[in-house]
Amino acid sequence: MPPPLPILMYHKIDGDILRKHLDWLRGKFLPVHLYEIKEYFIQPTWKIYHELYHSKDLLPKIVLTFDDALLDFYISSYSILKDEYDFKATICVPTGFISNPGNPRKLDNWENNEHSTNLIMTWSEIRDISKAKNELGEPLIEILPHSINHVPFDSYGEDIKEVQRQIQESKKTLVLNLSIPEPIFFCLPGGAGWKFDEHEGINHALDKANYIGALRAEYSNEWNRYCIPRYSISSSTCISTLLMGYQRNEV
Ligand SMILES: [Zn+2]
Repeated sequence: MPPPLPILMYHKIDGDILRKHLDWLRGKFLPVHLYEIKEYFIQPTWKIYHELYHSKDLLPKIVLTFDDALLDFYISSYSILKDEYDFKATICVPTGFISNPGNPRKLDNWENNEHSTNLIMTWSEIRDISKAKNELGEPLIEILPHSINHVPFDSYGEDIKEVQRQIQESKKTLVLNLSIPEPIFFCLPGGAGWKFDEHEGINHALDKANYIGALRAEYSNEWNRYCIPRYSISSSTCISTLLMGYQRNEV
């Protein structure tokens, strides 16, 4: 089966560039949350695949994800999505980096990103986002765990207990701090170097923690539900070329 649908992965993005992307998407794609299309991941079929992406009557679906709970999302992308486009999106939260108001904010300067100086949101900002609704009264932003400390799981080697802790505790922390239903998708930290059918121990840990699927940080035609591919989007990405390419690749 082909990858389920295009999933875009943003980090920090200039507001005007994001507007250009959303202008192009508007009227052509319908942004959805992963839990709304969970059936596809549980049992991918051609029928569901065509409903998601190739239906003649409905707009093809797309998922917009923003990683790392950056303050940039809160002060720029969030209000553009909410106030200007009414577009659903998903944020992926490394729970160990979220501060409480009054304490110094943390930076996204984890391993492999040591020199970065991007500030990260506080719990009260994420709580604010978690309550936002779209014009139909549905949740606007889906919130997914993105591990505790953003260490790529490959680096734990055989220490599957630590992987389990990262997977389970990050979910618990989100539910506790935000009073949201249990997330059923996870976002793998780092993710580079993953192959879709390896890491059985990690897949098992995700399954054991009742996740339906997990997002990876790269695009690939090979996938399974614990290794769902995403397109990495930067300021220089041409959205129309990318998505028309996606369309040509499939089926
Ligand atoms: Zn990340």
